Amino acid sequence: MLGGNLPGSENAMAAAITELEKNGFSVGKISSIFHSAAVDCVPGTPDFIDQAVIGCWNGTPEELLSLCQKIEISSGRPAIHSSRESRILDLDIILFDQMEINTPRLTIPHPRARIREFVLAPLAEIAPEWTFPDGSTISSALAALQGTQLP
Ligand code: ADP
Ligand code: MG
Repeated sequence: MLGGNLPGSENAMAAAITELEKNGFSVGKISSIFHSAAVDCVPGTPDFIDQAVIGCWNGTPEELLSLCQKIEISSGRPAIHSSRESRILDLDIILFDQMEINTPRLTIPHPRARIREFVLAPLAEIAPEWTFPDGSTISSALAALQGTQLP
């Protein structure tokens, strides 16, 4: 999942996708860019843009996180910052196959994925039938969040 809320975020996201590809992440599908108001941020925080990418990674999830963090830093994002601050680029791993990981550095599925429409909506555009480890689909998680019932 790519996101950001500063001038230049859209360029940084496009560059990040190129960089992921160069470093062994084989991109399958890329969603459109979704716009949303900042959540859990200080008042006045600019709107965010978010985009989902799915693809294949032959390394470990931890190696993918390291690559994401390297790309975040090379985009100009400070290595240490508050998670509620504006940022040029945020790269989060939402799902990794059907894996469940709970380490200090990495939690998969991403712990806030199910409560964030700005995560589920882009993902539902490109992978509606992909499932969380509990078997529920992205589209059903999105419907649950939006308070609607799937047929
Ligand atoms: P957030 O994405 O929550 O706004 P950050 O991007 O600053 O905040 O990430 C904070 C920390 O979250 C990172 O140091 C990273 O180790 C950790 N983290 C845990 N699980 C994940 C995940 N699934 N994807 C990305 N980062 C994660
Ligand atoms: Mg992040």
